[in-house]
Amino acid sequence: MIGILGGTFDPIHYGHLRPAQEVLRALDLDEIRFVPAANPPHRCAPVATAAQRRRMVELAVADIAGFIVDDREIGRGGLSYTVPTLESLRREFGAQPLCLLLGLDAFEGIETWYRWQRLPELVHIVVMTRPGWTRPVGGALPAWVRERIEREPQKLALTAAGNIYFQTVTSLDISATKIREALAAGRPVEGLMPSAVLEYLHDNRIYR
Ligand code: ATP
Repeated sequence: MIGILGGTFDPIHYGHLRPAQEVLRALDLDEIRFVPAANPPHRCAPVATAAQRRRMVELAVADIAGFIVDDREIGRGGLSYTVPTLESLRREFGAQPLCLLLGLDAFEGIETWYRWQRLPELVHIVVMTRPGWTRPVGGALPAWVRERIEREPQKLALTAAGNIYFQTVTSLDISATKIREALAAGRPVEGLMPSAVLEYLHDNRIYR
């Protein structure tokens, strides 16, 4: 099974890396592909350039087995809609199970995504819990989610796509927004991201 974690990664931080590592192990994924968005459609423009954000992701995943950078959205340019990205991954990986990893906040906005109805045909969705967000229960979930919930993770490997699985991960109250704010204010951000990323953003005076 292949995991996919898309994001702005402005910058990448342990709030991305640690939960992804836990999902990799819990679901026994072969790899997780980190896909930096060129131009995220649902939010304001990133502060760092696409090339800088890709480089920070490269530095962050360099020493982690099973983590790789997938820069197809940056290569494609334009607005980085997720469904076309997943269609491209599906073409590349044929019938292999693909798992889209999402934080709970991202999952809650999923019905605003371009052509979101295609998602269950393309991937399994693995929802990672995030601080400040509670796992929706019962009637709070739309029917298309309820009918696709899978409780046994090993069953995800049996089909290419179509299930939704909630994975509890260690809660890390880290966000890129807080990191950018801290850097702009000259506050320390050590321990929130790998030191190679920190060095890169200091050397290039990003977010100052
Ligand atoms: P920003 O603060 O700029 O909005 P972010 O820190 O939320 O950024 P993104 O690049 O937008 O990071 O997030 C990419 C994905 O990682 C999303 O699915 C998001 O829900 C998830 N994510 C980000 N931070 C965490 C965290 N601390 N714990 C779990 N998931 C997270």
